[in-house]
Amino acid sequence: MAEFMGEFDEARTFYDRAAALAPDDAELIYRTASFAVRVGEYDRALAQLDRLLALHPSHVRWLFQWAPTYMQPALMRDHPSLEHIVQIKLDILTEKGDLAQARQLARSYAIVKPGENYCGEAQAKSRAGAEREETFKAFRLATLGQPEADDPFLARLAEPAPAPAVTTTSNTQGRYVRPADLAEALELLAAEPDAQLVAGSTDWGVELNIRHARAALTVGIDRIPELREFSVTCDRIDIGAALSLSEIEARLAGRVPLLAEMFPQFASRLIRNGATLGGNLGTASPIGSRITSDAR
Ligand SMILES: Cc1cc2nc3c(=O)[nH]c(=O)nc-3n(C[C@H](O)[C@H](O)[C@H](O)COP(=O)(O)OP(=O)(O)OC[C@H]3O[C@@H](n4cnc5c(N)ncnc54)[C@H](O)[C@@H]3O)c2cc1C
Repeated sequence: MAEFMGEFDEARTFYDRAAALAPDDAELIYRTASFAVRVGEYDRALAQLDRLLALHPSHVRWLFQWAPTYMQPALMRDHPSLEHIVQIKLDILTEKGDLAQARQLARSYAIVKPGENYCGEAQAKSRAGAEREETFKAFRLATLGQPEADDPFLARLAEPAPAPAVTTTSNTQGRYVRPADLAEALELLAAEPDAQLVAGSTDWGVELNIRHARAALTVGIDRIPELREFSVTCDRIDIGAALSLSEIEARLAGRVPLLAEMFPQFASRLIRNGATLGGNLGTASPIGSRITSDAR
């Protein structure tokens, strides 16, 4: 209950107590791992998987850790809980952003095989309109597969991200403008005061998708240089309203211990890569994190 009410410290205490009472309860270990992922404690989640592995007989553990790749599929067929451990570990590593280690793990347990074009397969499934679940699994494999050396996307990844471009686009539902700077954004707002500002769109996207809200004019402010400034002096820290939480976390580098503790508890890495402090204040949700509540 405490976990689902967001009382994470309390939930952690209870999980610790339960683990002391029933250290070998596999269901409890899964739930503790899932809780650890929820609060961004990925290393703690991975440690739970080691505890699950420890519940297996020693020869199975030995084979799982040391047998060559070609033996692993048969071992996992005989012990489905081992495949479960690998799949959860892959998800934790991917969520943690440790893609290199996830790919290495997927290769060593033959979840992906060298020379397979998983990207092509996933794209073909998506184009053919395959079931959502099937397409998701295909793209998951594409993420874990090692791209070919001449893969065009790999070449693009090695290049720096393109500079943000001033954008104007429209359709029957409205207009979207990404202005070049703050002055242009303010001009747009002065001309159309009902315009909808959008930064990371983690809140506005929900309004669009779930409540079907539409705005005649949407102004994208996520790339405005004046809103992306960051500076630290001896007595103050200025954080631009359009910096994502992940960017703030990286730039603060633990300088504000309370924030360092809170970032991992805010949604997931994907959301933190888009979500901004400006947007959090803009929504001012009473159920939002305490991250900006003092400012409110
Ligand atoms: C799966 C999921 C999990 C989430 N988890 C959490 C959580 O743990 N804690 C939490 O607090 N929130 C959470 N949220 C809500 C959301 O991610 C945050 O509120 C986030 O900070 C919003 O930032 P954004 O840049 O995406 O805002 P947007 O969606 O771009 O904008 C939100 C609102 O703020 C306005 N706005 C944006 N920038 C500015 C600005 N610079 N000046 C004035 N107005 C502005 C917009 O006009 C809009 O009305 C979650 C959302 C999702 C989808």
